[in-house]
Amino acid sequence: MLRPCLALLLACMLPAGAHPESGPRPATSKSDMAGLVAAYPGVLEKLDGNTLVWRDGTRMPVDDGKGEKPFAAWLADPDIEDMLRLPYPAGAPATPPAPESDPGRARNAAFFEKMYGDCRKGGVKSRLTTITWLPAKARQKLQVTTVNSVSARLEAVSKELDALPAEFDKYLIPAAGTYNCRVIAGTDRVSAHGFAIAIDIAVAQSDYWRWSKGSAQAAYRNRIPLEIVQIFEKHGFIWGGRWYHFDTMHFEYRPELLPPLAPLPSR
Ligand SMILES: [Zn+2]
Repeated sequence: MLRPCLALLLACMLPAGAHPESGPRPATSKSDMAGLVAAYPGVLEKLDGNTLVWRDGTRMPVDDGKGEKPFAAWLADPDIEDMLRLPYPAGAPATPPAPESDPGRARNAAFFEKMYGDCRKGGVKSRLTTITWLPAKARQKLQVTTVNSVSARLEAVSKELDALPAEFDKYLIPAAGTYNCRVIAGTDRVSAHGFAIAIDIAVAQSDYWRWSKGSAQAAYRNRIPLEIVQIFEKHGFIWGGRWYHFDTMHFEYRPELLPPLAPLPSR
């Protein structure tokens, strides 16, 4: 693990806004970590050195002490700090991401299971609610968690998408699904869908890195309009189209990787 002062120096040596060519950044800054606490005000209280303190008194280590991880270990076994190592380019054009640039794709299992429950043990279902996807155009029922007001955030997304011109409908209708207690294809890790914080929009217009005819990863391709992506990002959802291992139908609630959200309107 690099000491913060050295990490800061290395960060300063990169051109503004530059990413390393591949792999996670060497260190997560204190302001990134403060952003994590600020992004989940209902459940997280503060950082205490290397410890994340939850409002119910739970304490979790931020850094597991395993040092800088190569990509596969970063993805399979991230600590809380690792989740924030790659900057998420909110609002940017949809260009092919740099190799191994998957911001937000690493999720610390203990953190997410504490936050949303473990669906394999029945811990997610009791906190689900049903929302109506595109209430004017689709009226599709979808199950989403109420934790962190994710359901209200997705309703805000849905309302804005519902107002887009008809040419956008094919990307949104029907949505392919939200809550699903399953593991990520090819892994034993619970998907963001298992925490009920993710939605897949229309499959027919989507592209996925595993959909390849040969053994190599499919070349980056995206057909989802940026207008749709920007509406999701405004409300706290990151997009799988910004990953080197791209999944362009996929959005998940990860406000710690995005600019601060506007407060929800009172109901
Ligand atoms: Zn998905």
